[in-house]
Amino acid sequence: MALIDGVSRLLIDGKLTPGGAGSFATLNPATEEVLGEAANADAADMDLAIDAARRAFDGTDWSTNTALRVRCVRQLRDALGEHVEELRELTIAEVGAPRMLTAGAQLEGPIADLAFAADTAESYEWTQDLGQASPLGIPTRRSVVREAVGVVGAITPWNFPHQINLAKLGPALAAGNTVVLKPAPDTPWVAAVLGELIAEHTDIPPGVVNIVTSTDHTLGAMLAKDPRVDMVSFTGSTATGRSVMADAAATIKKVFLELGGKSAFVVLDDADLAAACSVAGFSVCLHAGQGCAITTRLVVPRARYDEAVAIAAGTMGSIKPGDPSKPGTVCGPVISARQRDRVQSYLDLALTEGGSFACGGGRPADQPAGFFIEPTVIAGLTNSARVAREEIFGPVLTVIAHDGDDDAVRIANDSPYGLSATVYGGDAERAAAVAARLRAGTVNVNGGVWYSADVPFGGYKQSGNGREMGVAGFEEYLEIKAIATAAN
Ligand code: NAD
Repeated sequence: MALIDGVSRLLIDGKLTPGGAGSFATLNPATEEVLGEAANADAADMDLAIDAARRAFDGTDWSTNTALRVRCVRQLRDALGEHVEELRELTIAEVGAPRMLTAGAQLEGPIADLAFAADTAESYEWTQDLGQASPLGIPTRRSVVREAVGVVGAITPWNFPHQINLAKLGPALAAGNTVVLKPAPDTPWVAAVLGELIAEHTDIPPGVVNIVTSTDHTLGAMLAKDPRVDMVSFTGSTATGRSVMADAAATIKKVFLELGGKSAFVVLDDADLAAACSVAGFSVCLHAGQGCAITTRLVVPRARYDEAVAIAAGTMGSIKPGDPSKPGTVCGPVISARQRDRVQSYLDLALTEGGSFACGGGRPADQPAGFFIEPTVIAGLTNSARVAREEIFGPVLTVIAHDGDDDAVRIANDSPYGLSATVYGGDAERAAAVAARLRAGTVNVNGGVWYSADVPFGGYKQSGNGREMGVAGFEEYLEIKAIATAAN
């Protein structure tokens, strides 16, 4: 892998090309140094990319040749796997992802998960025979055929860029779609490397995957609006998701949304408080809290509130944000100065709202460069505080008191979001009963892990619609056609 000769390229119609709007800098968020330049696409590039994807879908056998697609998705997995060490260093440098996380969801997990998409396509029941019946008295043989939706516009954020790019590309391609991927401008190289590997190390035909890096967010809106695009698959903030949905309305295209979260970590009164609050504190520091499903509201028994705050603060206060390239680092930088300032504005708001910090509260004094934020525990607020309702996307935990299981469920569900949740309790059945009442797409009970290629992931309420990963994630990229043939 040449891995970027200083300026990355777009992938349009099988060719690696420069951007119509020149290039833009990509930064290392841990040092603020410029890593290099990325191709900056303009509207004409996006137009060419959509056109190429449309032609590849309409004019080739990609959507019907399952064997080709399965082979190509496996080639992509192999190509990524062969370059995993270079990708690891890139991911640490561009995303600011701690090295330890690259062994999981930041890099190696999503590469391995491509196998699930290929295997699903290979074994999938593309045509289901419903047998013969006589609706309206007419003998009819019925079947249900599943086929690709068409051209998919995939729009992705920066926080887990490999995971999100590949969790869209793998099933979309395996299902027979063609794709235009518009990644976040904060992590263009991660996406551009994917384009380079696809062009140079796979048989994926020209136009089947197009990758358009740009600082211009309106190129994402172009994808949502364009009548040549059949479906938009978006991961990002709820505010942008709302705009994508509105832009897609004119063409009634399929809209699949993975959005924000403000997930609750519920600790029941029979739980091991020390274990639960330490886990809650640790997990909110992973990747500096930049995970949509991270549980950022710790909901604890009122009688043990102070103790819970002290335990969480003990854990988080001991986690020092630092160089993500070091093997022991858990909490790296946030992605940008803009994001750091946004998190800081929420910390300021917590004080205005009457909260206090049990640890953290600002920028670490020992990190003069880089976009670092101290792991912070906010105490003294209820669930109606804005810092308990709005997504902060930093290493920030708000601790809220509950008055029993019913109240804990009420608080957990009292959110515009419904992405994920955790329940800790001493009695597994009681914890499971609480989990069953939570309005969230994934629930972890007593430390269980839902992240896996075969487990669907997604949100209730304003955390989105549809599911990524699992067979459900594959089927998001399929249309359903019923065929009725007169049988006499
Ligand atoms: P964002 O919404 O600002 O941007 C996401 C993508 O949308 C980027 O590629 C951006 O260029 C593009 N975009 C911006 N404006 C657009 C528009 N009007 N039309 C179309 N596209 C547009 O999100 P972000 O700041 O990059 O990422 C952080 C957010 O993503 C958080 O809210 C987080 O919760 C969410 N997220 C959700 C999941 C999930 O699976 N639910 C996963 C990761 C991140």
